[in-house]
Amino acid sequence: MPISQSFQDRLFPITDDIAKHYGTPFHIYDEAGIRATGEELKKAFSGIEGFREYYAVKALPNPRILELMQELDFGFDCSSIPELIMSRDAGGSGEDIMFTSNNTTEDEFLAAAAEGGSILNLDDISLIAKVPVFPELVCFRYNPGPRRTGNIIIGNPVEAKYGISHEQVISAYKMAMERGAKRFGLHTMVASNERDYSYIVETARMLLQISAMVEDELGIRFEFLNIGGGLGIPYKPEDSPLDLDAMAKEITELFNDFKSEHGYAPRMYMESGRWITGPHGALVTRAINHKSIYRQYVGVDACMSSLMRPALYDAYHHVDVIGKSDRTKSETYDIAGSLCENNDKFAVQRDLPPIHEGDLLVIHDTGAHGHAMGFQYNGRLRPKELLLRTDGSVELIRRAETNEDYFQTLSFEENVLPAK
Ligand SMILES: *Cc1c(COP(=O)(O)O)cnc(C)c1O
Repeated sequence: MPISQSFQDRLFPITDDIAKHYGTPFHIYDEAGIRATGEELKKAFSGIEGFREYYAVKALPNPRILELMQELDFGFDCSSIPELIMSRDAGGSGEDIMFTSNNTTEDEFLAAAAEGGSILNLDDISLIAKVPVFPELVCFRYNPGPRRTGNIIIGNPVEAKYGISHEQVISAYKMAMERGAKRFGLHTMVASNERDYSYIVETARMLLQISAMVEDELGIRFEFLNIGGGLGIPYKPEDSPLDLDAMAKEITELFNDFKSEHGYAPRMYMESGRWITGPHGALVTRAINHKSIYRQYVGVDACMSSLMRPALYDAYHHVDVIGKSDRTKSETYDIAGSLCENNDKFAVQRDLPPIHEGDLLVIHDTGAHGHAMGFQYNGRLRPKELLLRTDGSVELIRRAETNEDYFQTLSFEENVLPAK
């Protein structure tokens, strides 16, 4: 299933006007869809007291989008200093922010502790001694290792660089207590783009078990368990969607059972990125060239600087041609950008209605890990971002990069270390 019918119905009739007004290419996000998905998530987990989503900022780091998250009363999951800055600017403060970094530097610890702090999610036992100002509330990222098999994108936990090992769990919390921690959380992230919800339910079960084990050993009661993100979305029309309500029901039961058995239950946090914004974005690009060699190529005015997923993961993104919904007469195309890499293709051997120069193509599901992953290799710059607002108006929420932006890091004072 590509972007929702509702988004298509509101976007497609005005795509031409938007393209004329702003120029192509652009990502456009659906405010109404993002809000609805956010509300659905809260509703699904309303049976778990204190449930909170911490939006994974890296999925769509745009201040205007973070404002929507703030309005949904979501927190922010950050893993870098710019993400912290952006989340605080959007109104997040203190425990609204979870700082989940890996291979963390002292500067990052200081930034995480600044301005009222954030929830520190430590990735390794060796970092306990390195935290400059140890907070009262601390969380560890747990890596189950051989206890779980990873899913395709995130890989096998044994090979994953993240988190503390199973054997380190007790010592980690003990050492944190010795440094003055009094409040505790537990986190893991073992899936990515997973549509089989049982995988996420098992993650919740695993964290509840670990928390019971730590309570037995150390007398700690966890305030929260963070099951991470990784909820998958259907990118292909034939993909079946994750059943959110069934998943939430099973996880809620697990928390209720824990409560009956232990007399309390931790809160549950989640840090989805893709689930919240992924299906509510599209990349609009114009066909500018057409060539026929061994294959038929449609050259478009966007390239992998706007969307890396097809090149990086061989990911499928659905494509529509504006004004050409009839797919009975089709041609087989590779949709290519202009970057000097042969994998700079948005679609490979895709059957699409006949495309002519000037046609507008909509590349679906770019609302998470889309623009954000863009880069400037080959002097190809990142495009603008737009927001389709609930009233039907369209707002520019990030301008396109310019050549001046590209050259900005070359403007600096001369700085030479003389030869000895
Ligand atoms: C990337 C990431 C997420 C979000 O993943 P999605 O697949 O977008 O849900 C959440 N938590 C951590 C620690 C991450 O690195």
